[in-house]
Amino acid sequence: MSKFSLELPVIQKWNCHNCSDCCSYHAIEVTDQERERIIKQNWTQSDGIPEGASLFTKTSGLLGKKTYRLSHQENGACLFLDEEGLCRIHAKFGEHNKPLACRIYPYAFHPKNKKIVTSLRFSCPSVVKNLGQPLNEQKKEITKIAKLVVPESRKESPPPALSQSENIKWDDFLLFTESLDQILREKETSFIIKLLRCLLFVKFTEQTALGQTTGKQLKEFLEIITKAAISEIQSIPEETEEVSSINMTQFRLLVAQYARKDTDITLRGGWKSRLTLLNSALKFAKGKGNIPPLQDCFHSIPFEQIESSFGSLPEGVNELFTRLFRVKIQGMHFCGPAYYDVPFVEGFYSLAALYPATLWLARWLAKSDQRDSLELEDIQYALTIADHHHGYSPIFGTAGFRRRIKTLVKNDDLKNLCLKYS
Ligand code: SF4
Repeated sequence: MSKFSLELPVIQKWNCHNCSDCCSYHAIEVTDQERERIIKQNWTQSDGIPEGASLFTKTSGLLGKKTYRLSHQENGACLFLDEEGLCRIHAKFGEHNKPLACRIYPYAFHPKNKKIVTSLRFSCPSVVKNLGQPLNEQKKEITKIAKLVVPESRKESPPPALSQSENIKWDDFLLFTESLDQILREKETSFIIKLLRCLLFVKFTEQTALGQTTGKQLKEFLEIITKAAISEIQSIPEETEEVSSINMTQFRLLVAQYARKDTDITLRGGWKSRLTLLNSALKFAKGKGNIPPLQDCFHSIPFEQIESSFGSLPEGVNELFTRLFRVKIQGMHFCGPAYYDVPFVEGFYSLAALYPATLWLARWLAKSDQRDSLELEDIQYALTIADHHHGYSPIFGTAGFRRRIKTLVKNDDLKNLCLKYS
């Protein structure tokens, strides 16, 4: 039996600002008990639920198991979201009667050796903008929420694998995450340089057979490769290598996954919406003509406009991405059980791919607004769209998707993409 000890990211603030975005974008899966409880609440037209509306939508979970989600309104919002942007269940029966998924959002709790660490979902605009009280000042309330999902009597779980071929102990695993955090917390360095250093550190890790290297010896080895990555990358390379056309196709397909908005309206659309999605994927693969607008915020502009010059990135980008990466890494939100059970190396590469994908989406938002330069709001909004899927949409954990990331890493094209959109 282990004592419940919760770790919080010290660099992040958050409070709910009632924007109701989480109730408008997320598919809320409910347990059988939650479903029964909501049915017993006896919702009728007088509560604002349309007559004859089905409260739940049946979907197929893992291994074909039937699962249920709260149904959505025609505009994609949860059926229980009222015209004022408030939750009907919360208003009528209290916060504790909402599905657990709604109560926990935007927190994510993961095992980290003997502790539980907290990460956050950057699909929440208040998380992205770092609005609210520092999390470490809300430890008591956050611990109560964490206890709803993590039993106090939990068994300690093993750490994620380091790579496809290396499994190590927790103490050693945490030396790797600490090394990445050390690179990222450097205040005077731009995010892109820190990202290139992290990519190089992870590449060194991937190429090294650790064998019996552990504890103090491993710590010394990691200090050496951290210093090597830092001294190797002192500035942004003047010339950026072209991304191969095959990898540009792979990258656009990745962006298309991040740009989707999946609601139960899409699911209910059956073959027609599947065909529309397939058609959109083909257009993203070709990268020619107009981009199919996958959400209302995106306009149908030519693909080539995304590749035009957008000038330098706006102020605030370094802080935003540094915080995102530190929260995800400290919060174990990029590999292992929190990210499709992928090893540390692969998980970091996937996290790194989120950077150029978000900037691509931000360019699309800016061009949709007929602008040739990026504003911080474009990038913040793009991140809420992308992080909605990162680690949550089942497709990101499939073999095909994982192969796509591996292909991008080959020939350094992941690095080239990070530089291209910076
Ligand atoms: S049940 Fe309430 S809190 Fe949960 S998504 Fe629906 S409206 Fe939002």
